[in-house]
Order: sequence, then C-alpha cells, then structure tokens
Amino acid sequence: MSETLEATVAPAAGHSRYTRNNPYLSVVLANYLLTAPGSEKETRHLELAIEEGMTYTPGDAVGIVAENRRQAVDEVLQALGFTGSERVLDHYKVEIDLDEALRTRLAIGKLTRGSVTQMAKLDPDHPRLKSMSGAEGKALAEEYCYGREFVDLATDFPGLIKTPQQLFQVLARLTPRMYSIASSQALHPDNVQTTVRVVRYEAHGRERQGLCSGHLGERSPLGSTMPIFLHANGNFRLPEDPSAPVIMVGPGTGIAPFRAFLEERQATGAKGDNWLFFGEQRRKLDFLYQEQLEAMHKDGLLTHLHTAFSRDQAKKVYVQDRMQENATQLYDWLERGAYFYVCGDATRMAKDVELALLDAIARGSNGTLDHAAEYLAAMKKQKRYQRDVY
Ligand SMILES: Cc1cc2nc3c(=O)[nH]c(=O)nc-3n(C[C@H](O)[C@H](O)[C@H](O)COP(=O)(O)OP(=O)(O)OC[C@H]3O[C@@H](n4cnc5c(N)ncnc54)[C@H](O)[C@@H]3O)c2cc1C
Repeated sequence: MSETLEATVAPAAGHSRYTRNNPYLSVVLANYLLTAPGSEKETRHLELAIEEGMTYTPGDAVGIVAENRRQAVDEVLQALGFTGSERVLDHYKVEIDLDEALRTRLAIGKLTRGSVTQMAKLDPDHPRLKSMSGAEGKALAEEYCYGREFVDLATDFPGLIKTPQQLFQVLARLTPRMYSIASSQALHPDNVQTTVRVVRYEAHGRERQGLCSGHLGERSPLGSTMPIFLHANGNFRLPEDPSAPVIMVGPGTGIAPFRAFLEERQATGAKGDNWLFFGEQRRKLDFLYQEQLEAMHKDGLLTHLHTAFSRDQAKKVYVQDRMQENATQLYDWLERGAYFYVCGDATRMAKDVELALLDAIARGSNGTLDHAAEYLAAMKKQKRYQRDVY
C-alpha cells in the first residue's frame, strides 16, 4: 500500500491531542480568492498545515479559533472608557489584561439577546432595556440585535458597565468557527483545506465583518499562524462500499466536503459513479474549483456535473431546478442504491433541495408525496441521505 493510501485508513479526526481548548498552532500555506473580481461574493481557498498524527476523514470539519480584530477591540475600549491594561479574571480565573480578554476571550461581534438581557440586569429600571429583556422582550431584542455588535449596545446604553470584570457577565465566550474540510488527506497528508466565504456587510452606519471569515479574508497572509483543531463528523461520510453511486448537492461553500469526497474517491480508485450539483450566482465569477471539477468530469471521475448559475439569465435557476430537470435519472440512481448528500445553506437551499428530491422520488415511483416521504425516511435509516447544513 502506498503512503498516501495508508493515510485514508488512519484513525478519524479527533484522535489527535489537539482540541478546541488546546488548539494546534497551524501555519497558513495558501489563502487565495476563488471568486473573480466583480463577484458579489468573496470566497477563499485556505490550506492550513497540520502535524504528523493529526488525521481527518472527508466529511469532517476544521475548527478555527479567531481573535477579535484590533479595531473592534479599540472601539469597545473607547465606548466604555477603559484603557485595556485593567486586570480581569478570565473564565478559568486566570488574571489577564482587559485588552487580551477582549481580543481572545469575549464575543464582542454580533450581538445576542443574552447580552441585552444581562445588560438590563445592570440597570433593572431602564425602560428600553427592560422592554427587550427576558422571554417577553424576545421580538424587540431580536430586532435590536440584528446587524448590531456589542459596541452598539455599549454606545446606546452608556455608563452601565462600570467595571471591566462586568464584561464577563454581559458577553458570551468567543467560540471557534467550524469549516467543512475541502480536501482528502490521501492527497494532502500534511495540510487541511477549506472553502471560506468572507462575511462583510454594512449595518447601522458601520462596516461589519465576520469574526473568523474576516480574519481569514484580511489578516491571514501566507506564513501567518492560526490556532485550529479537527472535528470529526461521523454523520457525513462516503459510503463504505466504494462502488456505491453518490449524488452530491453543494452550492456555494457547500462544495467543500464534496471536493474532499471526490479527491478521496480519486485517491482510492473507488469505482462508484459520482454526480455533483453545484450552484452560484455567475459562471464567470463564482464557479468555485471550476478547473479541478471540469477536469474530474473530463476524466470520468465525475459522471455528471450539473451547474446552476442563478444570475446568468433572466429567470433564476438553482440546484433544485437542475435536480427537477434530471428527476428520472436521479430516481434511477437512488434505485441503484445511490447515497444522497447536501451541504451548504440551511435556511432555504436545504429545504428546497429536499422538496425537489421528494418530487423526483414521487414522480419516479409513480407514487404520492407521502410515499416519497417514506422512501426518504428509509434512505435516512440506511444512512443514504446525509446533510451538513449551516
Ligand atoms: C458544520 C459547519 C460547517 C461549516 N462550513 C463552512 C464552510 O465550509 N465555509 C464557510 O464559509 N462557512 C462554513 N460554516 C459557517 C462558519 O462556521 C461561520 O459561521 C461563518 O464563516 C461566519 O462566521 P464569522 O465568524 O466570519 O462571522 P460572525 O462574526 O459569526 O458573523 C456572522 C453573523 O453576522 C450576521 N450577518 C451576516 N450578514 C449580515 C447582514 N448582511 N446583515 C446583518 N447581519 C448579518 C449574521 O447574524 C451572521 O450569523 C460552517 C458552519 C458549520 C456549523
């Protein structure tokens, strides 16, 4: 067995000594744009070094522990009138500077209802804060939190936070962000790759950016370091049988685990058929991994590659439309024992894809939607319908 193939049968991720509380300090080996200038999206490909003994399986995720950016920390210090050199006790009662706490321990990014409720406790008679706290204030608080960060709360309700330590009461802990792994370790033994969409938006008069994706998009040049850990996901796995067909629906960054699946099937010589549905806004600007996917299609690894670029024509077309256009063949594949996978947006895409899948089953089997639901439930039981949506 070759060295690369041995890597595929190594233990699953999570067997390494690195965890979210004890991350590995990785080095950025690659960080480049996948979308072209002019795209409305900013999606990047990242390659992060791992050390010997750190193993992952396609379907797993990598956790990235990002810090709050300098500017965001300074804005909070200024809003509260602190210098940053004040001493505070962190969640483990370790004494550190407030500046470090704001940088590495506290979630000063997107505002949560919990912070509003905690802030209200600091001034129980404050009418506006009172109206937004607890279960009764849920709707008002959600409306207030949308598009806001902690600095907005601190600015809108000045003078309530009197000591730096109170920030540990008001703010949640800074948590790592998860990213689906986009590579097979059989091909890349010493690094892990991801596909990251950088979150940027303007709200309430400020330029905002996602904590972790912003860090990856702006402050992670080649050679810089980043704390990471590998996270196993046993519920998103290629079939054990290498000859089983797989159908993958992964628009946008949802492509990531399917690039890993395809690389794995390529590296191991798996004979099963592979069918990919990919979608984005515009072919010219947003076709992530176009060259690699088209080469896989040409080589026959990808039996079918169906794309849906919603903004390339007057009528928007999505992956679920491509599924419907190919419903007969899709059902044939399912009848042949195909595994069906979905990755990406949980709010709309995953639901629309499930409806298209149910429709294809109902049409293919001349059955009702109730029958299709039973068919899908049986697929789930056999682990032939797996989703990784966020
Ligand atoms: C299992 C799993 C796998 C994932 N895989 C991937 C992946 O492969 N690639 C990927 O890119 N992401 C992936 N994600 C999502 C990723 O973990 C992060 O949630 C994402 O990158 C945003 O994190 P952030 O720290 O950059 O932004 P945050 O600081 O968390 O900010 C994001 C938040 O900003 C707010 N927001 C965003 N846009 C707007 C707007 N226009 N107006 C108002 N508010 C807005 C929303 O509340 C949003 O939740 C995955 C998530 C999970 C759980």
